[in-house]
Amino acid sequence: MIAVLKQGTTQTQTEHLIQWLKDRNLDVHISQGKEVTILGLIGDTSRVDMELLSSLDIVESVKRVSEPFKQVNRTFHPLDTVVEAGSAKIGGGHFAMIAGPCSVESEDQIIQVASAVKDAGATILRGGAFKPRTSPYAFQGMKDEGILLLLKAKAATGLPIVTEIMNISTLDLFADVDIIQVGARNMQNFDLLKELGKTKKPILLKRGLANTLQELLMSAEYILSEGNENVILCERGIRTFETYTRNTLDLSAVSVLQDLSHLPVIVDPSHATGKARLVPPMALAATAAGADGLMIEVHNNPSCALCDGAQSLTPEQFAELNQKVQQIREVVK
Ligand code: PEP
Ligand code: MN
Repeated sequence: MIAVLKQGTTQTQTEHLIQWLKDRNLDVHISQGKEVTILGLIGDTSRVDMELLSSLDIVESVKRVSEPFKQVNRTFHPLDTVVEAGSAKIGGGHFAMIAGPCSVESEDQIIQVASAVKDAGATILRGGAFKPRTSPYAFQGMKDEGILLLLKAKAATGLPIVTEIMNISTLDLFADVDIIQVGARNMQNFDLLKELGKTKKPILLKRGLANTLQELLMSAEYILSEGNENVILCERGIRTFETYTRNTLDLSAVSVLQDLSHLPVIVDPSHATGKARLVPPMALAATAAGADGLMIEVHNNPSCALCDGAQSLTPEQFAELNQKVQQIREVVK
C-alpha cells in the first residue's frame, strides 16, 4: 500500500503519520520527491483502514500495490534509482559501459584488457574470478587470486570493478569489489540474495536462464527487503527453442522492467547471443531501447580465451562499438 502526502505537509505531520503506521506493525519506506512525498507501507496492510487513512488532512491518496514486488515497484518509488559504484553512476540518465573479459586469466591479461577498455571509454571493468561452468572439467576461474588481480587492475586504471559471487562464504573477498554480480544461475539462490541484501554493496542481478521478469523482480525484492537498495537488473538472454544464438535477447525486458521498477536496467548482449558478430548490433539496439548500460565481454586475444572467446570482442572492436553507442545515446536521450 502507498500513501501519497499532500504538498505542504510538514516534517512533524509526516513523522506523526509514520509513527501511527509503525504502531500498526508496518514498516514505512519514504520516497521524497521534489514535489510529493510517498510513504510505502510494508507488512500486513490489512490492519490499516484505507478509508480512515485517505480521510486524513495530509493524505492526498491511498493505493494498494497489487503486484507481489513492493520495494522494487515504481509505484513505491517513482524516481529512478541511481546506483553509485566508485566513480561510476548507473540509472537516472547515467549510462554504465561495463567491459572486460569473461574470466580473469593472468595479471598481464587483465591489466592489458583493463587499460584498453578504459581508453576505449568503459566506465566499469568486469572479470570473472569465480566462474559457474556447465562442466566441472572446464576452467573454474582463478578464484581468490582472480579477485586480487582485478584489484590490481582497478588500482592501475581507476576503473570500478564488477565480479561474480557464487557462495556467500567468500563475501569477505569482495570487500574492495565495487559491484557484486549474481549470475543467471544464482538468480533464485534466495539465501545468497538475502545475505547480499544485508550489505550495502551494489548488486548486479542477472536474469535467470528461464525466469520471467516478475521472478527477476521478486529476486531483487529479496535484496531490497533486507535493506540494500543498490540493485542493478541485467537482461542477458533467455532460453527459447532457438539454438542459433546461445540465448534469445529479450529486448522488451528493458522497457517492461523500467515501467515496473525504479531500478537501473542494463543489457548483456555477449551472453545473450554467444557470437561476437552479433554483439555490436544487439548492443546498439539495447542502447536505442533505453537501457541504462551495457555489459560487454572483451578479450585481448579472443581465440585463446579460457572462457567465452566466441562471444568476446577485441579491444579495437569494443572501441568502435562504444563510439556508436555514444552516438545512439545522443539520439535517444
Ligand atoms: C558472466 O557474466 O560472467 C556470466 C556467467 O553470465 P550469466 O550469469 O549471465 O551466464
Ligand atoms: Mn562469459
